[in-house]
Amino acid sequence: MSRTCANPRCGAPLGGTRRAQTTTCSNRCRMALSRARRASTVPAELRERDRWVLHDAAKAPRTPGGAPASVTDPATWSRFSTVRSRPRRGFVLDGDGIVCIDLDDCLDAGGALSPLATALLRRCPPTYVEVSPSGRGLHVWGRGEVARGRRLRRGGGKAEIYGAGRYITVTGRPHGGAPSVLGDLSGVIRWLLT
Ligand SMILES: [Zn+2]
Repeated sequence: MSRTCANPRCGAPLGGTRRAQTTTCSNRCRMALSRARRASTVPAELRERDRWVLHDAAKAPRTPGGAPASVTDPATWSRFSTVRSRPRRGFVLDGDGIVCIDLDDCLDAGGALSPLATALLRRCPPTYVEVSPSGRGLHVWGRGEVARGRRLRRGGGKAEIYGAGRYITVTGRPHGGAPSVLGDLSGVIRWLLT
């Protein structure tokens, strides 16, 4: 019985020497499959919008083909299915009411939250929160009105709030038991701004 690589974008024969529990042909495909599985935690409200980009190591947005992308040019954005198994994905905020609060460096190596992150998450309704690519930050996704991006300091911590003209990385790694839904962040945004 010949088996094939479980990465749907690959499908290469696995060959007889692979152990029975090995389902992918290579480390690369194993990582792609794991990213695709994690991607199912991304809220449907993000997945169903064709506003996805990739980014390079310098965080410049790219199309899946590697060309420069722009957060103001929808022609350079993609469907989620195109990026779901790729590393370095991002979702473009275009002012439609989907917003993200970016908390850099708010998780220590042991996973403990900074005082600002603790206070902020306590004020959040159930909403999608994920760990940033560095493993040290959190992205709090939800709905709200953010006329322009804001960077602010509060209680010894830093927070950034964005709603348009920007892409935010999406790892598919939820923080704690964060649900795959977008909650109303208007209360927590007001709290941050006052
Ligand atoms: Zn493969």
